[in-house]
Amino acid sequence: MGVLLPLGLLSIAAVAWIMGWGILRVLAALFAAWLIVLALMLAAPAAEMRVFGGMDVRAWLAMGVLLALVLGYMAVLRKARAAAGARWGDPQGEAGHEARRTAPDPEASRDPLERYARHYVLREIGGPGQARLRDARVLLVGAGGLGAPAALYLAAAGIGRLAIADPDHVSISNLQRQIIYRSGDAGRPKTAAAAEALRALNPLVEVETLDRRITAADTSLISRFDLVLDGCDSFADRAAINATCVDAGVPLIAGAIAQWEGQVTIYDPARGAPCLACIFPEPPAPGLAPSCAEAGVVGPLPGVIGSMMALEAIKHLTGAGETLAGAMLIYDGLHGETRRIALGRRTDCPVCSGVALRPGGA
Ligand SMILES: [Zn+2]
Repeated sequence: MGVLLPLGLLSIAAVAWIMGWGILRVLAALFAAWLIVLALMLAAPAAEMRVFGGMDVRAWLAMGVLLALVLGYMAVLRKARAAAGARWGDPQGEAGHEARRTAPDPEASRDPLERYARHYVLREIGGPGQARLRDARVLLVGAGGLGAPAALYLAAAGIGRLAIADPDHVSISNLQRQIIYRSGDAGRPKTAAAAEALRALNPLVEVETLDRRITAADTSLISRFDLVLDGCDSFADRAAINATCVDAGVPLIAGAIAQWEGQVTIYDPARGAPCLACIFPEPPAPGLAPSCAEAGVVGPLPGVIGSMMALEAIKHLTGAGETLAGAMLIYDGLHGETRRIALGRRTDCPVCSGVALRPGGA
């Protein structure tokens, strides 16, 4: 019977711990109970009454010392683990968390080895691929639904020079999908707000802004870049960017979205892939291709397609894998389906039929 009393105390402590009491509170309560029992034993008028759970005062004291030793050992272990966490940046180590939160190191944020560590270990990118990304110049046309995620991922990936062209200002209705902006950016030029976000994300990236449309007169501007990403929402703008990229011989990654469906491809006639005009020689009939403002678009869809554009850009620049040049990936978000269709150049294309294949082009 007597031994049930200490066991009962331990059971209550276990239940309190399960109920969400912190381990320190449970231990403090156990220590208080131990002290009370000790005091009662010492205060008992007769020696035979100084027992608890079959233990006399000496056994009770000895048990207390033993428990204190075990707890002390556990505390030392915990402290050593936390210290190791701080030293090695172990995300599990509590002190590691604390150190990161309280002491941001501006030098560490400029260390490419740490920043791009997950790229360095990829066989297809590694050190040489990361150097190619650093040396790359990429122009993003449109800082909207597609441009926002693409810009974030390209800056995060360490594209050396990023330019963003967009004449618009941030509006509250953009924020449902254009995740580069914050509510406080409403009314600001998109390029300025986007550039600020990209510099905060990665200070190693040079960001240039152009508060205007890209037109057919921009051949010399576009020829400064290795790659163009088009996330515009008007066919006229897309056609102008396509013609300018064909003129300048610069590959164009194009994404498009409407409602629940999106598509992505690389137009690159100099390397054997078609241009936009090979696939869509005529503008769509009025009303057949309504804008997102008219038809609506589900928020994460431009995130999916814009991220695919950034991924294609990284593959194109590093030579990893197989890009979507000569193929179009169509993603149906409503039914969770993808389709990939082959695309070819048209010999009578009004825009690219005069383009000769570059040496090494497919
Ligand atoms: Zn063409």
